[in-house]
Amino acid sequence: MEIIRTVKELRRRLDAARALGRTVGLVPTMGALHDGHLSLVNRATSENDITVVSVFVNPTQFNNAHDLATYPRTEEADARRLTEAGVTYAFMPSVEEMYPQPDERVFDLGSVAQVMEGPRRPGHFNGVAQVVSKLFDIVTPDRAYFGEKDFQQIAVLRRMLEITKQPVRIVPCPIVREEDGLALSSRNVRLNEHQRAIAPQIHAALEGSVAEARNKSVDAVKQQVIDQINAIPGMEVEYYDIVDPITMQPVTDWPKNGAQGCVTVNVGEVRLIDNIHYY
Ligand code: AMP
Repeated sequence: MEIIRTVKELRRRLDAARALGRTVGLVPTMGALHDGHLSLVNRATSENDITVVSVFVNPTQFNNAHDLATYPRTEEADARRLTEAGVTYAFMPSVEEMYPQPDERVFDLGSVAQVMEGPRRPGHFNGVAQVVSKLFDIVTPDRAYFGEKDFQQIAVLRRMLEITKQPVRIVPCPIVREEDGLALSSRNVRLNEHQRAIAPQIHAALEGSVAEARNKSVDAVKQQVIDQINAIPGMEVEYYDIVDPITMQPVTDWPKNGAQGCVTVNVGEVRLIDNIHYY
């Protein structure tokens, strides 16, 4: 594996590969890699000739300076894991390399970005669209891999592609969990021992509610999940919405194509997200 730090260098390698007819898969990450990221990477290496993994803590998607400052950075360990996984190129640019000028683009992301994470993290999805569209321009991948842990992000990026018309296929990948059910996240290292011990209750509450959906209304299931999580001292639900899996709009009845329950829980200072499929 090669670590590449400049756009020019990466383009040069990829142009040469494309001339030979190679397919390219891209996995965008912010590093602090764990087995969730690695599942995306393994899928990419199995489906493409060349796999590029970007490791870039994108400042424009952070609406909270403290969160950006404390975001874990583990570049050496990341490079080791990517080498072991058989990645072709790790793209690790500086902020100046990605943003030689400030990115002033404002994407009209519409209704998928106006619910859940959208209003609670102003500017977040626009920042995600900025960095991912830049990465798509630099890498021009055939496929790009995203985790369903960030369920709304996938809907937002599909909308972004309608705007940019970039010919990239988005490949959603299932959530990877710890044995106790906690969704893997780079932020989990910020949980103290007690918080780490209670955090699996989030998935337990979601999973337990799936069977309830057979004989309860959407509102009743939603309230039950919120009450169950809030009953645990140290956890506070920021929102729990049960939405259409494509439009991200809240549903009132259980739809035939299923629904997705998306939650954000504050465990002390750490904001954890998770989701589950109903029906
Ligand atoms: P991040 O580094 O947090 O921006 O995540 C990079 C990519 O990895 C995103 O597409 C995430 O959705 C995905 N990802 C993060 N955690 C998990 C997980 N536990 N399971 C599956 N995908 C994940």
